[in-house]
Amino acid sequence: MTEILIKNGHITDPLQGIDAVGCVLITGGKIGKISVGADSINVSNPAISVVNATELFVFPGFVDMHTHLREPGFEYKETIRTGTLAAAKGGFTSVCSMPNTKPVNDNETVTEFIVRKAMMEGYCDVFPIGAITKGQEGKELAEMGMMKTAGCVGFSDDGKPVVNSLIMRRALEYSKVFSSPVISHAEDAFLSEGGVMNEGYLSTILGLRGIPAEAEIIMIKRDIDLAALTGGRLHVAHVSTAGGVRAIREAKKDGIKVTAETCPHYFSITEDAVNGYNTNGKVNPPLRTQKDVEAVREGLNDDTIDAIATDHAPHHRDDKMCEFDRAAFGISGFETAFSLSIRLVHDGVLTLSRLIRKMTCEPAAILSIDKGTLREGGDGDIVVVDMEATFTVESERFLSKGKNTPFSGWQLKGQPVLTINRGRVTYDNFTGRL
Ligand SMILES: [Zn+2]
Repeated sequence: MTEILIKNGHITDPLQGIDAVGCVLITGGKIGKISVGADSINVSNPAISVVNATELFVFPGFVDMHTHLREPGFEYKETIRTGTLAAAKGGFTSVCSMPNTKPVNDNETVTEFIVRKAMMEGYCDVFPIGAITKGQEGKELAEMGMMKTAGCVGFSDDGKPVVNSLIMRRALEYSKVFSSPVISHAEDAFLSEGGVMNEGYLSTILGLRGIPAEAEIIMIKRDIDLAALTGGRLHVAHVSTAGGVRAIREAKKDGIKVTAETCPHYFSITEDAVNGYNTNGKVNPPLRTQKDVEAVREGLNDDTIDAIATDHAPHHRDDKMCEFDRAAFGISGFETAFSLSIRLVHDGVLTLSRLIRKMTCEPAAILSIDKGTLREGGDGDIVVVDMEATFTVESERFLSKGKNTPFSGWQLKGQPVLTINRGRVTYDNFTGRL
């Protein structure tokens, strides 16, 4: 295994309170030593690769708690290999794969398949999320205990809400036993039925069926009430509405165990992205209004929203190159996530350290996984970022099979240049030789 010394980068590790120039030595796949100060670690052994990170930033590898890797079952959209390759390019070293595969990850056999495949072919660590209900049909609880033992770190029927409140109550009760969160895809399926974009003036103009903000807000409120009733751990996925942010803020004040995530597209763009029937802006929950974008940013600022996840949802070209009503929901998110998120720092919404928290140790803590920090003895998961690098988003150059993004042509600044997972270089756009 390669030994790597990353020298003189600006290290930001919020969990250890490090925000200074320093050096990190990776040995045996672990963080062997971290120390503050220029040239604070020197090595004479020529077998150790030395990366000069002067004027670059060094962070714990990003942790994405919400992704769709599509395997098993939808390998034409993405595979564990291509998905994790794209993740590595985005600076991620850990990703959580949602269970809406074919078959659904609702039992330990599927969980074990994903874990094994990721170990063999993956470019980052993959932590599966198990389904709450069998077949994600919302009728009967899945084998949560067996899946937890097999490697699942959370439970969700993501892609679908758990319509039956009693089933959701039971899942939250079980979550206490497993110390894993129940992740809510908050959508009142009756209110959103047939909807393809945000409900409002624009949907009327375009003649498209709308999904009202209340479809999300009502379900968030129900799940918060069930979390209060059970004492279980609720995590709300991809928060997109001002009302949703408000409900979670109130619940946290009341001491209810709820955490939340949002995604770069919900704080970067509005429903205007679907204008012209652009299917690359079709996502679930839908892109909302400027008021919602501002509320999501406020929620990130005051820690109502704990984490930033991608909801990476790659699709085959044919699933998007069709009429808007029939197009699939989703954005291929890994390869633009950091560069969009760093805009929060440029805009004064978050400090750099707080942004990194939301992409590393916060999601790791929610899922109780030992990731998201550069502490000595921990996994050698690191991303080196060039904050000055500017580039144009070219979806055709995505490593993901999914080229579906509403950010094509955007000029972005700040880009991962080197990603290391357990001491192995998984993406190198910097030295080109490691
Ligand atoms: Zn979802």
